[in-house]
Amino acid sequence: MSESIPFSPLPFHRFRNLSSVADLVHGVFTRHGGVSRPPYATLNVAWSNGDSLEAVRENLSRVKSAMGLETLVSSRQVHGDGIHLIDEAAIARARDREPILLLQPGDALVTRLRGVGLLIKTADCQAVFLVDATNGVIANVHCGWRGSVAQLPVKVVQFMKERLGCRPGDLLAAIGPSLGPCCAEFRNYREELPPSFYPFETKPLHFDFWRITRACLVDAGLHPEHIETAGICTVCAKDRFFSHRGEGKTGRNAAVLGWKP
Ligand SMILES: [Zn+2]
Repeated sequence: MSESIPFSPLPFHRFRNLSSVADLVHGVFTRHGGVSRPPYATLNVAWSNGDSLEAVRENLSRVKSAMGLETLVSSRQVHGDGIHLIDEAAIARARDREPILLLQPGDALVTRLRGVGLLIKTADCQAVFLVDATNGVIANVHCGWRGSVAQLPVKVVQFMKERLGCRPGDLLAAIGPSLGPCCAEFRNYREELPPSFYPFETKPLHFDFWRITRACLVDAGLHPEHIETAGICTVCAKDRFFSHRGEGKTGRNAAVLGWKP
């Protein structure tokens, strides 16, 4: 994670490896700079958890204008492995919940459209950005531990390869602030996690999902040096990010990726 933008009214983080890609905009927003009240204070971007609709709309408007994008698209995230290809037809089908377009359930958003921001909402789950600058294809993936078990990041890379002609070796990836190895305790890991994750146990019952995602992406054909990890644990940094494990009922952080209009 290279830089925060301290003088912006809406602070967000950017990744070093994505900052040099022409015409790409991206941001991992903190919980600050919005209008929601506790326990959603303040930049909560999800209204499925009980926050006021008006507050979430204002927060989303601020995120959209901070990114300079015409459209924000999101889906109902269900910890599954559904992948949305966002083309003109998908945009036409989406429900208009100004200032955002909402898609059916799904946990990965892929597009080559310009001006469309892909929004993933997180509170400890990873937002994984994938960028193919050669083909102009981007993806934003919601990946909690269930997404890791379902191999969703790998499925998205395969989708980009088979459907859109991307070469995994061209892809850049960035793994956002999320549950860190310090706090990822899985007491029932033998029921919940596959044996392939066991080498990533860092101390008893704790697992490093940042390295799990990285290893899966490398297995899918990405170059290790093309993958950047924020390395920020949202449970430890709940003063800056919403954290489900850290707080229980809380808001959702915005992670946005898009091509400039
Ligand atoms: Zn932690």
